[in-house]
Amino acid sequence: MFSPTIQKLIDLFSKFPTVGPRTAARFVFYLIKLDKKETEDLVNTIKTCNFCFNPFEKEGNLCEICQNPSRNREILCVVEKETDLNSIEKTNNYQGLYFILGGTVSKLKKEDIEKLPIKELKERIKNPQKFGIDTHFKEIIIATNPTPEGEATALYIERQLKNLNIKITHLARGLPTGGELEYADEETLKAAFEGRK
Ligand SMILES: [Zn+2]
Repeated sequence: MFSPTIQKLIDLFSKFPTVGPRTAARFVFYLIKLDKKETEDLVNTIKTCNFCFNPFEKEGNLCEICQNPSRNREILCVVEKETDLNSIEKTNNYQGLYFILGGTVSKLKKEDIEKLPIKELKERIKNPQKFGIDTHFKEIIIATNPTPEGEATALYIERQLKNLNIKITHLARGLPTGGELEYADEETLKAAFEGRK
């Protein structure tokens, strides 16, 4: 039997895809033995973007993408998690902004859909200036993963955003069904963005 806090941490780590309770326990005990000051410093230097929820380390409240004046601020791409944003960035094709729904590491489950930060998303679309972005969005791309959870999430978001009267698009089919953006090759991802409708 582990102490309640250790058990709680193990449960947390077990939520990672492919991590079972035994591996989770190893992570937790590894973490406990790490130098406290060092881990604290590392975690404290990382901030979350005020607009898109992307983690970053620079000055200010906005991440590098949101701060970059050459990005197209009329397009907003909604992704499930940080690693999806990262894969899209790697294609060097999409130039707009993002919003991370915040299924940070674990996949979105049906019961989690109700907990999605839709209110936050709507606020940022309606009033981006309030969050430090001077723009008026003209297109929202819903780029959730082509998994059952991702499709359900996309439908839910679309329904929620309907009355904002902004063009909503989806990535073109062609991404492997059941796969994740994270694992799609750059050409496929690029084509999915270009063929969006
Ligand atoms: Zn940002």
